[in-house]
Amino acid sequence: MTSKILIVGAGIAGLSIAQWLSRFGLDFEIVEKRSSETVAHTGIVLPFNAVRELKDLGMLGRLEGQYFQASTITYSKVTGKMIKVASLTEPPFENDQFIALKRKDLDSALLEGLERKVRYNTEILTVEHSDDAVNITCTNELLNGAYDLLIAADGINSLVRQKNYEGQEMLTDHNVIGWRFVVPYPEHTLQPLHMIGQTDLLTIYPLSDDALYCYGHVYEDLNDITLGENARENIKKVFSGYGGPIPYILSQIDDVEILTSRLKSVVKPCFFDRRVAFVGDAANGCSPLIQQGAAMALADSRCLADALAMQNVEQALITYQARRERKVERTIRFANAPLSHLQNMQSWVGRGIRDLKIRAVGPPDVNAWKKLATDRLFLS
Ligand SMILES: Cc1cc2nc3c(=O)[nH]c(=O)nc-3n(C[C@H](O)[C@H](O)[C@H](O)COP(=O)(O)OP(=O)(O)OC[C@H]3O[C@@H](n4cnc5c(N)ncnc54)[C@H](O)[C@@H]3O)c2cc1C
Repeated sequence: MTSKILIVGAGIAGLSIAQWLSRFGLDFEIVEKRSSETVAHTGIVLPFNAVRELKDLGMLGRLEGQYFQASTITYSKVTGKMIKVASLTEPPFENDQFIALKRKDLDSALLEGLERKVRYNTEILTVEHSDDAVNITCTNELLNGAYDLLIAADGINSLVRQKNYEGQEMLTDHNVIGWRFVVPYPEHTLQPLHMIGQTDLLTIYPLSDDALYCYGHVYEDLNDITLGENARENIKKVFSGYGGPIPYILSQIDDVEILTSRLKSVVKPCFFDRRVAFVGDAANGCSPLIQQGAAMALADSRCLADALAMQNVEQALITYQARRERKVERTIRFANAPLSHLQNMQSWVGRGIRDLKIRAVGPPDVNAWKKLATDRLFLS
């Protein structure tokens, strides 16, 4: 008997599980609260494991010519003085790719072939469990009713998760404000650059020969910065003392779209409850500092779809959790680790130790990626 499946959210997780389910001949509906397929104008960095997932999904070819492939990452002080350059082409990454691209290009590739399946302007409203089903209401009455499986792919602030675990504290706020934007930078010759200050950081990833994706953050409690204030002014205030390419970048931000967010993590990853499955940020949202969000969303989707193709819904959900739980928990630990030391960076001793460590053992994100590439847990 075919299961009735509803996917909530047409982001990376929702679209990728839809792609896998289509391949396995399983039917589904997707609801998305955005009014159209348009996503914010920002970039996304995809380390080796996200790229491997895209290859498995047959998506990397579709993105040909739309991404920048990095070969090194440089860590520097805010002045631009180099601390360390790390290779992204040497073992264990000699057969891998690290890329950055526009978020809209990634979403368009994932949407291909699913255009008629996504119901935009449709928001999930209520979620209730019954014996062998989950009953939902949403803003499109035609979709209301009972489903064998609801797949919550509705992001870090997942409403499905909030409804499902009503009254429980599901998110940790790291008190860090992050900004993302894409700036034109004609004929640059840059490779990814992380400029690290006290509790502030600005990273730059080329998207092409003439555009850069920038991510900056600052620890909120120690700075006179709050979310919702003028993002451009705040960015200029925090990063005005930076050297290297930053003065030029700051001179370009008046005309670009800026995405502001507070960095949050799930308190504990959740994979399923009765007939509701969680994938992507809804299951395991965490700090973006080692750029594992897309990789986890893609891997969650592959594992859940794979299990659904082989087993009934109940067994598939158990298999899904068993395959993902330990990997996800470890990844989140790696991703959140850099934030736990942020307050110590106020002192010059803290920053000195940080820089020494980066020189001696390498940048924290590259080290975390190496662990993800070689740890036996991730090879199974
Ligand atoms: C500042 C910052 C920088 C980041 N940088 C990177 C990076 O470089 N690399 C990386 O891999 N990851 C990065 N991430 C994380 C990455 O963006 C997420 O992990 C990824 O987008 C998760 O995909 P998702 O599909 O689970 O959620 P989302 O992409 O958030 O998609 C959720 C979808 O659900 C929809 N939705 C929400 N609620 C409802 C509802 N009630 N009903 C219907 N639809 C709904 C939303 O409109 C959205 O389309 C970053 C995150 C932040 C905050």
